[in-house]
Amino acid sequence: MKKPIVGGFLAIASFAFLPYKAIAAEAPKLILQITVDQLRSDLPTRYMSKMGEGGFKYLYNEGIVYEDAHHAHSNTETIVGHTTLSTGAYPSRHGLIGNVWFDRTTGEMTYNIEDPRYSMLSKGADVDKSTEIDPTQRTAKSDGRSPAAILVTTFSDELSIHTDKKAKVFGVSVKDRGAVSMAGHAGKAFWFSKAKGEFVTSDFYYDKYPAWVNTFNETKPTLAYENTTWELMYKPSEYMFGDKDDQEWETALGSFGRVFPHAYGAADGKYFTTFLTLSPAGDELTLNFAKTLIENEDIGKDNVTDYLSVSFSSTDYVGHVFGPSSLEAEDNLLRLDKTLADLFAFVDKKVGLENTLIILSADHGSPEAPPKMNEYGIEADYVAPETWDKASGIEKLKKEFGIGKELIQAFNPPYIYLNKKIIKEKGLDLAQVEEIVANEIMKFKGVNMAVSSTALMEGRVADTEDMRLILNSHNVKRSGDIFILFEPNWFINDFDGLTVACTHGSLWNYDTSVPVIFAGANIKPKKVYRKIETVDVARTLSAYVNVKPPSGANGEILTEVLEGK
Ligand SMILES: [Zn+2]
Repeated sequence: MKKPIVGGFLAIASFAFLPYKAIAAEAPKLILQITVDQLRSDLPTRYMSKMGEGGFKYLYNEGIVYEDAHHAHSNTETIVGHTTLSTGAYPSRHGLIGNVWFDRTTGEMTYNIEDPRYSMLSKGADVDKSTEIDPTQRTAKSDGRSPAAILVTTFSDELSIHTDKKAKVFGVSVKDRGAVSMAGHAGKAFWFSKAKGEFVTSDFYYDKYPAWVNTFNETKPTLAYENTTWELMYKPSEYMFGDKDDQEWETALGSFGRVFPHAYGAADGKYFTTFLTLSPAGDELTLNFAKTLIENEDIGKDNVTDYLSVSFSSTDYVGHVFGPSSLEAEDNLLRLDKTLADLFAFVDKKVGLENTLIILSADHGSPEAPPKMNEYGIEADYVAPETWDKASGIEKLKKEFGIGKELIQAFNPPYIYLNKKIIKEKGLDLAQVEEIVANEIMKFKGVNMAVSSTALMEGRVADTEDMRLILNSHNVKRSGDIFILFEPNWFINDFDGLTVACTHGSLWNYDTSVPVIFAGANIKPKKVYRKIETVDVARTLSAYVNVKPPSGANGEILTEVLEGK
C-alpha cells in the first residue's frame, strides 16, 4: 500500500481537543459526484414523463441544470471524460488522452490506469473481459491498477490535502477506470470484477480489504440474478420504442439475445457477470455497494466534508450493444432513475440531502446507430481503419518511401501510430511522412480530418473550434502521430471481432453534450442556458468548499452554484 491511513486516534483527538474547522462552516457534509457513463444530455428529459419521483425528476426540478454543457476535448472516451470531471483539466494537462495510448518511454501500448507495481487484492480479478463489450477498452497486460497516470490533482485530492486526510474520499464503479479516475491519488477506489463477480481494489489503496468489503462480497450479490431475466418494467405499449425491440443494428451477445426478456443464465456461465453489466443489474450492484460503503465508512457523519463518487456504467454498455434509441436503453434509463432515487433516499436518511451537494454529469454522450440515421436521409456508416494500411493510396506511398512493411502500425482512437522504426531506418523525415499520410487518409470515405501531430504542436493548424478541441486532447508525450476525426455519424463498430451498434469518441455534439446538474445542499432550482464545459465542474467544487483548484484545472467557477451559499 502506498500510504498509511490516518489513524482513528488522530482524527478523534483533533476533533475533541482542537475545535478547528477543516473547511468553511457552511460546507456540506458530503459531496456526492455521480457520473453516468454515456448519458447524452437529451436522454433523461426524453423519458421524463415515465420517470418516478426522487431520481432524475428531483435533479431536474430541484437542481441547477446546465442545459448546454460539453466536454471540450476531441476524444470523448470513458477515462478521458471521467478524469476531466475529476481534475477540471483538459486531457492535454491531465494526460488521460484515451483508453489506451502508446508509451514512448516503454515502447508499448498502455491501458490508462494500468500500473504493474500495484496488483489487485483478489487474484484473478482482472476485469479485461469487458473488452468484449466495450471496444474502447483495450486489454491491459497486467492486473495492476493505480491513478499514477493522472498527471495533475483531482478535486478529491485537493479536498484530502486541505483537510490533512480527514475528508473521506471514495470512488465506486463497475469499471475500474470509472472508480480510479474519480477517487484520485488520495482516495480509495473500488470496482466490479467480472472475473470474480465481486467488488475489488488494488494494493495501491489497501494491504487487505476492509472487513465490510469482505462481508459484502461474501453475500455473493450477483447470485440474486442467477437464472433470472431483465424484463421490461411496463407494458411495451408504454414505451417510446415499445414496438421496436428488434432493430437491425442491435447486437445479440450470445444467449442474452437482442429482445426482451434478456436472460442472465446460470451463475457459472461464461458471460453471466458480463450480462449483468450490460443491463440495469450492473447499476443495482453498484448502488448496493455504494450504500454499504456509506454505512460502514461513516460517510458524512462528522463536520469535515467527505467525497463519494459513484459512476454508473450500465447506460454505456447498453448504448454500445443496443444503441441509445432502443427499447433496452429506454428501460435501462427508467431503471437507472429508480436506482438514483434509491441512492438519494438513502443519502437523505444517513446524511441529509440538505447536507449533501450532489453533482451529476456524464463522461461522454453517444451517437445514434448509422442505420437509424439513414432512416432520416442522413448519410452515416461504420468505418474500418484496420484496412487503411492496405489501401491503394497508402500502398503507393509505401512504394515511394521504399517501405515494404506496414507504414500504419496501429490505430488507437483517435490516433494513428506510424511505424517509426522503419521511417528512421529509411532516413525519412517523420513530420513530412505524417503530413503526406494524413493527406492520403483525408481522401478516405468517412474521414473528416487527419492532422499531423507535428503540425499541431508547431501551431501549423487553423484557428478553429475543432482544432481547439483537438489541442485540448493533445498531450505531447502520449498522443499518436496523426489525429483522425471521422465525419459526423461515422465511426468504428468493430474491434477485436466484436461488432457493436454504437461507439462514442468524437468531438461532435452528440458525443460532447452531457448533463451537468448540481442539487441538494443549499442549491436553488435554476436552468442555465449559457454554454459551459465539463472542466468547470471540479473548479466549482473547489470554490464551493474553499479548497485550492486542482493543479491543472482549466475550468471556470460556475457562479450560479455558489450564489445560494
Ligand atoms: Zn463506452
